[in-house]
Amino acid sequence: MRSLVVLDQLEKSFGRMRAVDRVSLELPPGEIFGFLGANGAGKTTTIRMLCGLTRPDGGRASIAGLDVWAQRSEARKLFGYMPQKFSLYPDLSVLENLRFFAGACRVPAAEAPARIEALIERADLRAKRDALAGSLSGGMKQLLALACALVHEPKLLFLDEPTAGLDPVHRQQMWDLLYELSHGGVAVFVTTHYMDEAERCTQLGFIHRGRLLAQAPPDRLKSSFRAKLLELEVDPVMPALLRLRAESGVLGAALRSGRVRLYAPDPEALLARWTQAWPHADLRLLGHRWAEPDMEDVFTAYSQGYDALLDRA
Ligand code: ATP
Repeated sequence: MRSLVVLDQLEKSFGRMRAVDRVSLELPPGEIFGFLGANGAGKTTTIRMLCGLTRPDGGRASIAGLDVWAQRSEARKLFGYMPQKFSLYPDLSVLENLRFFAGACRVPAAEAPARIEALIERADLRAKRDALAGSLSGGMKQLLALACALVHEPKLLFLDEPTAGLDPVHRQQMWDLLYELSHGGVAVFVTTHYMDEAERCTQLGFIHRGRLLAQAPPDRLKSSFRAKLLELEVDPVMPALLRLRAESGVLGAALRSGRVRLYAPDPEALLARWTQAWPHADLRLLGHRWAEPDMEDVFTAYSQGYDALLDRA
């Protein structure tokens, strides 16, 4: 299917720091693209360029063929944007906020009331339609912000950490809405720090220090993790974590459910070595097991450059 959004070697620097480093990717209609990266990786800067708010230094990006910078005022009509801090009007009610955004986005007056009512339904805000936005819970504010970003019925939606700080019920509601939009053909570009949310996307991109390290569906990224994962039960666990990280043949280690999960190219050899002669007299090795990689493992391997563990997607 023809891509709605195309990034071609997109670049942005702040002083000498390259915040976005030649990122290329494509987003077709109906796709939910999850953009994952640590704080400062370049996610917001990428979204801001796509929204025509920050001028790219190099490369180009387009939405439905329109250049995101040179034709930004036309491109703007095509998408909704929910930034990390969406500016709702706290002294206006839910209904009034939606009316305000409908006006600002030039929704035809004859269509606005029905659209607003439909959005209030979809965002589950019926009971709060006359409440001041400032009085809503964090989750409801986010749902209202999403509804406001949708009032002009965009075919593309940019969401910058829409579920940060939300309880599980509101996160689920937010995701149900995103699925519904995607089924209707809306393309969604969403940043998140939550690995379980990453798995709900149809495509994922890992960004690290401005560079796109991988782009593929979640399943394909997971299956690109080819090493076995050894978990050790060691007592006491915290000093074990630090000590095992420094062992030869170990690339990294993480604490998972009280065990030490090891990132190593040949964990079987490590296990054989340690079961024969455990080198840490002050740490008790109580047992081991093999774990299945989850998205956090995969993201860690890509962002830390553990190439020996990956068949790069
Ligand atoms: P977070 O998850 O914290 O939102 P992010 O992945 O969205 O992070 P960006 O906000 O895009 O990251 O920032 C990328 C880098 O660019 C960071 O080092 C940041 O400090 C820097 N940066 C962003 N905006 C500016 C700016 N206006 N001036 C200078 N540096 C900036």
